[in-house]
Amino acid sequence: MKLLLHCCCGPCALVTADHFRSSNTAVVGWFYNPNVHPVEEHARRAATMAAAANSANLAMLPDGPAMTLADFLLSLARVSGPRCSGCYLLRLRATARKAAEQGFNAFSSTLLISPYQDLAAIAEVGKEAAGAAGVEFRFADLRDEYRESCGRARDLGLYRQSYCGCLFSALERAARRVRRAVDRACAAPTG
Ligand code: SF4
Repeated sequence: MKLLLHCCCGPCALVTADHFRSSNTAVVGWFYNPNVHPVEEHARRAATMAAAANSANLAMLPDGPAMTLADFLLSLARVSGPRCSGCYLLRLRATARKAAEQGFNAFSSTLLISPYQDLAAIAEVGKEAAGAAGVEFRFADLRDEYRESCGRARDLGLYRQSYCGCLFSALERAARRVRRAVDRACAAPTG
């Protein structure tokens, strides 16, 4: 069994690759995340992925291309449904096609280890992409292993991003920080 693993980032790839390798499967990674902006952040995550793959002995295909912000937003606008489902579809459809082209039997994604992602939507999108490309989508709920993944990334000194990837998620993170700061200020004793 040969599996192409869509890698959203280095930290999430460490444990996910081991999970699939443990079932007698040859795993190759592919970094394809045109959702990540700005371009400096995309480059930083790609470099972190390369370092993680090196330390985990994970073979990688050449990285998939980045996208301009305008092209990414257009690709989301073409898909009906929630923003994240469109983003998963963009990445998993390309991974499924790549897997079929390169002779893999199956594909999966490191997104499955993240407690911040919608696994039901990923399962649905993965199945759809698999059917269209004629390869199997391997689903596993790996969220219980997220802490271990973070620990390994910390031990290796890998960069761990603080927002999912798109500029919407960066703005949502900033809004959460502002809300927390306001709550703290309001809770502080006066006078
Ligand atoms: S929050 Fe994450 S999954 Fe959702 S659209 Fe943004 S980058 Fe994609």
